[in-house]
Amino acid sequence: MTVSRQGTHLNPLTPPDINPVTAAGGAVPLFAKRNVTHVTQPMMPPLAEYIPYLETIWENRWLTNSGPFHEQLEGALAEYLEVPHISLVSNGTTALWLALLASRVSGEVITTPFSFVATAHALRLIGATPVFVDIDPETCNLDPSQVEAAITDRTTAILPVHCYGFPCDLDALEAIAEAHDLKLLYDAAHAFAVREQGRSVLARGDMSVLSFHATKVFNTFEGGAIVSANRAAKQRIDRLRNFGFIEDTILPTVGLNGKMNELQAAFGLLQLRYVDGAIARRAQIAARYREALSAFPGITLFPVSESSTPNHSYFPIRVAEPCPGGRDGLWRRLEAAGILARRYFHPLICDMSGYRHLPSAQAPLPVARRMAGEVLCLPLHPGLSEAEIDRTIDIVRSG
Ligand SMILES: *Cc1c(COP(=O)(O)O)cnc(C)c1O
Repeated sequence: MTVSRQGTHLNPLTPPDINPVTAAGGAVPLFAKRNVTHVTQPMMPPLAEYIPYLETIWENRWLTNSGPFHEQLEGALAEYLEVPHISLVSNGTTALWLALLASRVSGEVITTPFSFVATAHALRLIGATPVFVDIDPETCNLDPSQVEAAITDRTTAILPVHCYGFPCDLDALEAIAEAHDLKLLYDAAHAFAVREQGRSVLARGDMSVLSFHATKVFNTFEGGAIVSANRAAKQRIDRLRNFGFIEDTILPTVGLNGKMNELQAAFGLLQLRYVDGAIARRAQIAARYREALSAFPGITLFPVSESSTPNHSYFPIRVAEPCPGGRDGLWRRLEAAGILARRYFHPLICDMSGYRHLPSAQAPLPVARRMAGEVLCLPLHPGLSEAEIDRTIDIVRSG
């Protein structure tokens, strides 16, 4: 997701001899209070619990290249997420790029216009052409019937997104991929720990890609991972993320530097202790919103799926008349009150200048375009106060 505020965190002019964390007396969190409510906020475990990890890293002098914390986190995440093979990488975009490279995807790839730009960027980076098809209004995920209709001789893969952590129509997509001999790679950046019918959505398809960016449910500052269905695929990814090396003189293919470092991996291990609590708190907040905003004129909530276990990564609502000014009207009223709800995903990827020229970007895509004009994601993160939740609800309800 875009996070324009990230760039404003540190004043680049802060002199190096002033520690910005302790300058205010040590007790004042540096960025916490600006009387603004963000749509999300990084989950930060207690600093004191991170220090012993740092001490170990300093003792080991092992900073990157499959260090001990890296190996521990791969194991711990595979177990936590109930997936067979996982490769940690430097960020979610690199994870997408590596997954596509490792799967030898080329030609045309069917994907969704209703996502963060990284989904389509990864396709462009490997020289593939994104083919945008329309989405399902109940989940904002690829509509399988549209996928089938878009397959050509040049199609090699499908790249769906579990938008907002809502599971895609897994069975239908798998059937299409199998019938047409296509790779099925999921952008699961929103779907950490999401299950469908008791089973991790990350264990479906050929590969799933996670983002551990600061704003996601589980973060390692920056970071990401690729879940692969078999050992050979994991091995291919592990080589590609390290320039393509098999051994230090054996380099059969061109890879990139996509490695996760030890500071990130240690933070991930610590974060893993807190993630269940964070998701539980997200669930409480989502339930508050749902109760307060259901059956409210102009506001449509997304249906709750009985078969899936959500992670409550986002709380999207659809806004239309009679809510005054529709979605953008409400977005501005919230902003005026210091509540920065986000219009994920507006504009559609296919309407951005780098993509508008593509043939599939000219298609009507009626559902995606309607959603891009109606969806608003309300603030949802474990650090939200009751007052912030109440204020958000009041403004939405005040019309
Ligand atoms: C966050 C996100 C990404 C990119 O992940 P980074 O770790 O920020 O590179 C990719 N796809 C989707 C859907 C995302 O939300």
